[in-house]
Parts: sequence; structure tokens; C-alpha cells
Amino acid sequence: MPNFNTHVNFGIYFYPFVLLIYKIASQFLNFSMPEDKIIAIGFLIFVLSSDMPDIDHNHSLLHRFVKLLTISAAIYFEFTGEIIISYFNLNVEDVFLRFLFSFLFGILIGILYELIIPRHRGPLHTVWASLIYGGIIGYGTFYITSNLNNALFLGIISVSGYVLHLILDRYFVEKDGKLGIR
Ligand SMILES: [Zn+2]
Repeated sequence: MPNFNTHVNFGIYFYPFVLLIYKIASQFLNFSMPEDKIIAIGFLIFVLSSDMPDIDHNHSLLHRFVKLLTISAAIYFEFTGEIIISYFNLNVEDVFLRFLFSFLFGILIGILYELIIPRHRGPLHTVWASLIYGGIIGYGTFYITSNLNNALFLGIISVSGYVLHLILDRYFVEKDGKLGIR
């Protein structure tokens, strides 16, 4: 089970290969590449994905970082989309009160995040989790960019980064800073 640094390093150096494979696949299967900015942002998304399964490690930096991201995303979706607030038919005109509502919703999601994160190397270290995770990233991308090629790309590279982590956990061990095959 390699550590954070190893996972991140693999993520960094694997991204060009994943991009190349995606490009070749897009030519064979005849679908378009995403926008340039998405390919560039994809680097960060891929590297983060390659350590994402370890958010089930309660005290990890990533666990706390993803909690902040989750809260921010909840605030963003609720504030811009007014999903919950309109479901309850609350007609809030004031921009500050509307934000406050979204903020409280975000905090609630943060509490839920702590409650539902399962034990370390449990269900989050499975391929099923990678698919759900990729689906969330893809849907979020579509929501923000309204572009299916962008959504498909970020969704697929997220799954790839996540699966890369699972493969490393499963087949490699780290001893005294050295990586070896299990
Ligand atoms: Zn792991």
C-alpha cells in the first residue's frame, strides 16, 4: 500500500499516457476530444483522482481537502441552481439570505460527509466506487460546461486515476521508501 506521495507521483507521470490513449480511442471510435482548457484542468483532476480512494483515511490531508471541496460544491450548486430552496417553495429575494441558505446547506453536507465516509480500505477501494466517482465528476462537468465531450473526458480520466490507485494498492508494497511488487 503505497503512500500519498507515491500515488500522487504516479498520477502526475501517468496523465500524458492516459491522454494519449484517450486520443487514440477517440480517433478509432469517432468521438471528439474535449476543449483545451478541459485537457489542461484534467491534469489536476487526474492527479487528485489517483489519491481519491484514500479519503476514507480519516486524518489524511485529502480527506479534509475533499470535505472542503464537497461543501463548496454543495454551496455552488444550491446557490446557482436553487434546488432545495425551490423544492420547499421558499421565495427568498435577498441575495444574502439566499447565500446563507446555501451556506447552511453546505455545512449540513459537510456533516453528512463525515458520517457516510466508510472505514479505511473498505467500499471506497473498489471499482464500483470508481464508477460512481467518475459519474459524479462527469455530471458536474456537464452541469458547469454544458458540453458532453468535456463531461465524458473528465469522467473517464477520473475513473482511470481512481483505478490506478486501486492497482497500486493491490499489487505494490512500499518499504523504507522503496516500491516493490507484492
Ligand atoms: Zn488506498
